[in-house]
Amino acid sequence: MTNEKPFGRAGLATRLAHAGPAPSEYHGFVNPPVVHASTVIYDSLNTAKNRTSRYMYGRTGTPTTEALEDTVTDLEGAAGTVLTGSGLEAISIALMSCTQAGSHLLVADNVYGPTRRFCDKVLTRFGVEVEYFDPAVGAEIDRLFRDTTSALFLEAPGSLTFEMQDIPAMAGAARSRGITVAMDNTWATPVYFRPLDHGVDLSIQAATKYFAGHSDLLLGTVAASEAALPSLRETRNNFGVNVGPDDVFNTLRGMRTLPLRLARHFESGVTIARWLETRPEVARVRHPALESDPGHEIWKRDFSGACGLFAIELQPCTDAQLAAFIEGLAYFGIGASWGGFESLVLCPDPSSIRTATNWDAAGPLVRLHVGLEDPEDLIADLQAGLARLVG
Ligand SMILES: *Cc1c(COP(=O)(O)O)cnc(C)c1O
Repeated sequence: MTNEKPFGRAGLATRLAHAGPAPSEYHGFVNPPVVHASTVIYDSLNTAKNRTSRYMYGRTGTPTTEALEDTVTDLEGAAGTVLTGSGLEAISIALMSCTQAGSHLLVADNVYGPTRRFCDKVLTRFGVEVEYFDPAVGAEIDRLFRDTTSALFLEAPGSLTFEMQDIPAMAGAARSRGITVAMDNTWATPVYFRPLDHGVDLSIQAATKYFAGHSDLLLGTVAASEAALPSLRETRNNFGVNVGPDDVFNTLRGMRTLPLRLARHFESGVTIARWLETRPEVARVRHPALESDPGHEIWKRDFSGACGLFAIELQPCTDAQLAAFIEGLAYFGIGASWGGFESLVLCPDPSSIRTATNWDAAGPLVRLHVGLEDPEDLIADLQAGLARLVG
C-alpha cells in the first residue's frame, strides 16, 4: 500500500473505507488515534508566539478531528468542514456565520422545529429579520429577496412532512444576488445528494443520524464552499465549539459503513412505504421516492437515493385507536432522532411549527424510521398494528 490515495477517481464506498490519515502516519494502525487533549507543548517560545506548530490547542484541532473533517470534506466536495457538538449546533453556527444585525433571512416553512426556534428566539434578538416561505416556491424565491437578504435556509425534504424543494433553482437565484445558501441535508446525506454540487454554500448534517448511525452520540457537521468557509470557521472558533474525541472517532467509524447502511434503509423504506400505500387505513404516504409523491420528479432529477425516514397520514381516527396502533408495535420504538440501526415511530403535529403554509391532513401524521431489521418483520409488525387501529 502506498500513501497516495487516488481519491479523485475512487468510488464513494472506497473513499469512505480509506478516509482519514494513511496507516503509515500512525505506526501502521488502520484507525487514527483518539487524541484526548487540551494542552499542546510547543518546542520554543517562537513557536508559541507565531503559532507555527501543526497543532496549537485541543479546541483548534487534533489528528482525530482532522480525520473526520477531511472525510466529510471529501464526501461533500467542500472546501472545508467544521464539526459541532450536535446537529442543532451545526445549524446555529451556520446561521450565525451568514447573518448580522439588519439581515433578512429566508427559511423554508418545513424546517426542523428547533431550527425555527433558534431563528425566532435567538437570531431575532440580534436584529435578524426572519421570514418563512412555502417550500414549493422554487425559482419564484427571487420575489422574496430584498437588498438586505443575506441568507437562504433550506431543508429538503422536510424531515417531518417531506416536501421537496427545487434546490438548484433556488440556490441559483440566491447566488446571483450574493446570498449565502445553507441546507440541512440530514435526510439524503451527501451519499444521495451533494448540496455543494447544486449551488449550496453550507451543507449541514446532523451527524447524530446516519453518519454516526448507531443512536449513541450527538454530533454535527457543516461543509462549506470556498466563499463561505472563512466566516464559518471564524464563527465556530469564536463560539468555542468543540466535540469530544470519542464521539468524533465513533462518527468516523460509522461512516465506513454509511453507503452500505443507507442502501438497506433506502430499499426497506421504499418497500414498506409501497406496502403502506396499498392499505385502506392509510390516506397518504409522504415519501419522495414514491411516484405518487408531489416531490417525486424533483427527487428523481436531483437525488440518487432515499434514507429510511418518511411519514404516513392515517385516515381520521381517535386518540385511543392511534395509541393501540403505535404503542403495541414490537420493533418501532416511540422516539425522536433517527438514522440509527433501529426502527422508530413518532406522531408529531406539524401545525404548530409552520407559519407560511397550512397543515391540513384529515387524520394523524405518523413518522416512521425504517431501520436495518428484516423488512418482512417490520411489515408484519405494522400489519398487526393497523389491525389494532380499526379493531
Ligand atoms: C435531528 C435533526 C437535527 C438536529 O440534530 P441533533 O444532533 O439532534 O441536534 C437537525 N436537522 C434535522 C433534519 C434533524 O433530523
